[in-house]
Amino acid sequence: MTQSADLLLTNAIVLTMDEAFNQYEPGAIAIQGDAILAVGTEADLRAQYTAKEIIDCGGKVLMPGLVNAHTHAAMTLLRGLADDLRLDVWLLGYMMPVERTFVSPEFVDLGTRLACAEMIRSGVTCFADMYYFESDVAQAVAEAGLRAVCGETVLKFPAPDAASYEESLAYSREFIQRWKGHPLIVPSVAPHAPYTCTEDILQSSAALAVEFDVPLLTHLAETALEVENSRAEHDMPVIPYVKKQNLFDAKVLAAHCVHIDEGEMHTLLHHGAGVATNPSSNLKLASGVAPVQQMLEHGLNVGIGTDGPASNNDLDMFEEMRLTALLAKNASNDPTALPAQKAVEMATRLGARALHLGEITGSLEPGKRADLILLDINAPHNIPHFRREREGIYAQIVYAAKASDVSDVMVNGQWVMREHQLLTLDEAALASKAQVYAKQIDAFLLEREQSVFSKLLAIGGAVEAESFEVQAKVRIADPDIAQAAIKKPGIEILHYRHYHEYDTYFSFADPKQGYLRYREDEFIDPNDAVVNVRYRLTLLGQARERDFPGGALLSRSRFLAPANHSLRFYREYFKPSRELFVKKDRLRWRVLYHGMEFYINLDHVEQPDLGYFIEIKSRTWSRSDAESKAQVANELITFLGTSPTETVSQDYVEIVEQSGDAA
Ligand SMILES: [Zn+2]
Repeated sequence: MTQSADLLLTNAIVLTMDEAFNQYEPGAIAIQGDAILAVGTEADLRAQYTAKEIIDCGGKVLMPGLVNAHTHAAMTLLRGLADDLRLDVWLLGYMMPVERTFVSPEFVDLGTRLACAEMIRSGVTCFADMYYFESDVAQAVAEAGLRAVCGETVLKFPAPDAASYEESLAYSREFIQRWKGHPLIVPSVAPHAPYTCTEDILQSSAALAVEFDVPLLTHLAETALEVENSRAEHDMPVIPYVKKQNLFDAKVLAAHCVHIDEGEMHTLLHHGAGVATNPSSNLKLASGVAPVQQMLEHGLNVGIGTDGPASNNDLDMFEEMRLTALLAKNASNDPTALPAQKAVEMATRLGARALHLGEITGSLEPGKRADLILLDINAPHNIPHFRREREGIYAQIVYAAKASDVSDVMVNGQWVMREHQLLTLDEAALASKAQVYAKQIDAFLLEREQSVFSKLLAIGGAVEAESFEVQAKVRIADPDIAQAAIKKPGIEILHYRHYHEYDTYFSFADPKQGYLRYREDEFIDPNDAVVNVRYRLTLLGQARERDFPGGALLSRSRFLAPANHSLRFYREYFKPSRELFVKKDRLRWRVLYHGMEFYINLDHVEQPDLGYFIEIKSRTWSRSDAESKAQVANELITFLGTSPTETVSQDYVEIVEQSGDAA
């Protein structure tokens, strides 16, 4: 007796991607509602089923839809915005400032729909997403008809959709409650990465995911620097550190895992965590090559992801499958490593398991959702066909097929593309709206790039906008005379410190930008030991604001902040036209002289070798205050046994430039 089905797909090369890698040619699949009823040979299924609709697949490959195990879908709108940069400069210098300004519910709606259009064309039926306004992402994905695990991003910085991480966590809770149980969307929480989260964020996110039994998405061990910093700050690499924060209480999907060792792989396996490898992104950002082969040998569910379209720059899973196989071979110096069949398994069944959706998708098996694609393997780049070995078809898919060979896509029993025509999205409308955003973002960045000051503000951390200082500086021959003079009656010493200072000055093609100084201060204790190190960034006015009689001058610094990033970061972000380095030993006194407070710096400039200087400084707030301070500063210079008629300059960068010692 025959059973009834809604749909019978016949005359296909059916790749089930089940555990046994069963193939049927000519094969067929019977679908009822959102689920697969049966998969087998065409003869068997035609004998067993009558269907309301029968579609002849014309000899195409019928296989499970691809699972994009890690992306940031809405970032399609930032594709090509900034490229060929290091991860921190790219992320902190460009992505985050633009996101803070532009990302809104409308932005993520449009960006996600554009991503869905691209992913459907690349044969993706299911993906894992991490972004902001994830409820709007989920809505766009559901309307496009794709399946997704949607993770609301939580991080310690203000985000486009939350002023604080507490707000993000509250948003996540509400988002999960609203979407849990949806046929296409699995809501989840996504603490961005250990280095962008606090311990509390990691712990609270894990607790939230456990409470609602939803996955937790995050980025782990993406770069060697991240691991190095984790060892320095927490005394352990990344995986043990997040384990300590109870992250693995939740069903984790960890993107990247480029820099993990065997012990960490065991930890991931033991806790049932899935991994998403992102070959294009890791290559483009030079993050390294993930140890995919070893992770698979350990039994980990490793899926393949595109990462966000701003770091790839596309969402083409065929390209990622190919790169995953090629990189594993190259890394192990073994062309038999990670064969094509394994790459397809990663992009389908293993990816679904990594997303903790292995029960419902990732392979063509009775009872699973009907998430499938048809792939035309008759294009010139994919003929002829050898059928001697069962594995040949996987090699055709991984090494020769292209995303554009995908002709039809079904998700949850519903077609979203038929004969290359998208059924749920209007590509032309998406393209024109995306271009409107591109124009606005270009204008925003062009304006920002016009000044060093606005670029500084864009990366945050301004603690002081502007300050004025009266300064007097003279070169001296004998530091002992000045040091003795400071102890004479007439000067009251309030405070004393000893530093080593390492200053790097950036200058720019446009001198009006001034100088940006990156300073490393080492505090030296009386035993000559370094007790503390401080990094600061100061934007110095291009020249003196005003000269006073006697040599003192008024200087202006527009910005003073702790330097949170490396010198290398600032160099790549600001792209100075020139750099100068000054190293000095500084004795610093805060004193009262004639009732006014001054700093006296006794500097030995060691590099370049410029000898000794005395510098008098005092913060000032008004014109009359500046005038009286300038006068007293000149007197103090004289009191210290030096002559105020010698070279007086705003900062060492000028002295170095004038001395001709600039390298
Ligand atoms: Zn990512």
